[in-house]
Amino acid sequence: MDIFLLGTGGGPRPTAARFPTSQAVVTGERCIVIDAGNGAAQQMARAGLPVHGLTDLLITHLHVDHAADLGMLPLAAWVDGRTEPITVAGPPPTTESLHRLVSGYEQDLIHRMASTGRPDVREMLRPHDISTPGVIFEDDDVRVSAALVNHPPFEFALAYRVDSADGSVVVSGDTTPCEGLDELAVGADVLIHEVVHPAALEELSRGTNAPSIRQHMLDSHTMLEDVGGIAQHAGVHTLVLSHMIPHTGISADEWLDPVRASFTGQSVIGHDLDRLRVHHGTVTHTRSSEDLHVSI
Ligand SMILES: [Zn+2]
Repeated sequence: MDIFLLGTGGGPRPTAARFPTSQAVVTGERCIVIDAGNGAAQQMARAGLPVHGLTDLLITHLHVDHAADLGMLPLAAWVDGRTEPITVAGPPPTTESLHRLVSGYEQDLIHRMASTGRPDVREMLRPHDISTPGVIFEDDDVRVSAALVNHPPFEFALAYRVDSADGSVVVSGDTTPCEGLDELAVGADVLIHEVVHPAALEELSRGTNAPSIRQHMLDSHTMLEDVGGIAQHAGVHTLVLSHMIPHTGISADEWLDPVRASFTGQSVIGHDLDRLRVHHGTVTHTRSSEDLHVSI
């Protein structure tokens, strides 16, 4: 199982350092992309992944930094040559949002089908909404499960777990510490977890048009001091910090010291285009040489 960190930045405010949230899990014949912040298709290409290989797109929740390319990524896979179905799953109203996004480009789709002879991408999409925890799909090679997590004011926000013969990975999505994620993450080889550094809380509300953002972060996200304990409690092998807030300006030790105080496994700061290989109980982290050269 190979995991590619396509985007490791938290929040929709753009920076030069990190793309918004997205990760790809490649196992057997499947390429499962979990969340699709804007630029996810380009990041797949930069990671060396064939975009037409997209088999499944799983959305944790419909904040735009996780779902801006909900429509664009399947269209990119189609233009890149895909003809087979693409599963698209997420909390309600993912199906409706996908339909609206794709409908917005109807002229393009009709013209492109007419001028290129491509099949109708709308018939390739297999959307469904998930509002209950449990196994989403399972075959001989892979099992994908979802948990309900706590990300108010959303009624439904999800975390996902992918299990294969090689091992397992859990993606937290956005959440406060919660029972749903604790249970989903038990024994995972890799836990990719969102994180907010406390230094960001004051900075976030300074000079912005969002005076209540500090309280929103406290009510709906996980603070750095809690992440290590979550990983330790679940007994995960490797914890990857991602969806990082802030994107830059915090040293590696400032990120990792609070984690290592409560977590005895391997802890990693995620960067765009990093790769993790999970193989029979071992996890190898390869730092990308193609990233945007963040200084941490
Ligand atoms: Zn969110």
